[in-house]
Amino acid sequence: MNEELDIIKNFNLLNSFNAAINNVDANNNKNLRVGLGYDIHKFSDLSDLSSDFSILNSKSSLNSVNSRCLWLLGLKWSNYPPLEAHSDGDCAIHALVDAILSASNLGDIGSFLGVDKSNCENISGKTVLQRINKLLKKNNIELVNAGVFVLCQKPNISKRRKTAEKLLSEIINAPISVSASTTDGVGEIGQFKAIASLALALVKFL
Ligand SMILES: [Zn+2]
Repeated sequence: MNEELDIIKNFNLLNSFNAAINNVDANNNKNLRVGLGYDIHKFSDLSDLSSDFSILNSKSSLNSVNSRCLWLLGLKWSNYPPLEAHSDGDCAIHALVDAILSASNLGDIGSFLGVDKSNCENISGKTVLQRINKLLKKNNIELVNAGVFVLCQKPNISKRRKTAEKLLSEIINAPISVSASTTDGVGEIGQFKAIASLALALVKFL
């Protein structure tokens, strides 16, 4: 997956984030911290999947993935196969949670979603985000805002971007912006074999 990592590095996101921080009241900067999160999951192993997602419209194919489908940005994408994971595989929310936890100095998502956590099997990204929201309140930490960047060939994120932003913002009580890009067919992401996400979060210690 080195191609994807190189692409992400080139987005220069940290520079953008530093510019945003400079707009915040300088007197409060000592209470602010940023965090970065990254996640990648591969699609479930379906033959011929890489060439044509329409295969999932057939009954036999749906049965082969146990009628599960893709969950991304807290939304269900019915015509796409699930991402492999112990949880629901929502790599966008996983990256967002890692960014928030990193900024908050509260560890990482492995603390919540490790394969040894039996009560987390098939846990939804939305549920994890709700738990993070409670954790922030308990620790007197406020999420100022966060951005989630999804790197995938399909699905088309832009069509549901506003819906995802509204959903995530309501769960975590802070503005969440969503952006996305393809790799123009490059690498495993470009061949429909995986989806990656990157997130940046800014928190304030109250
Ligand atoms: Zn994940």
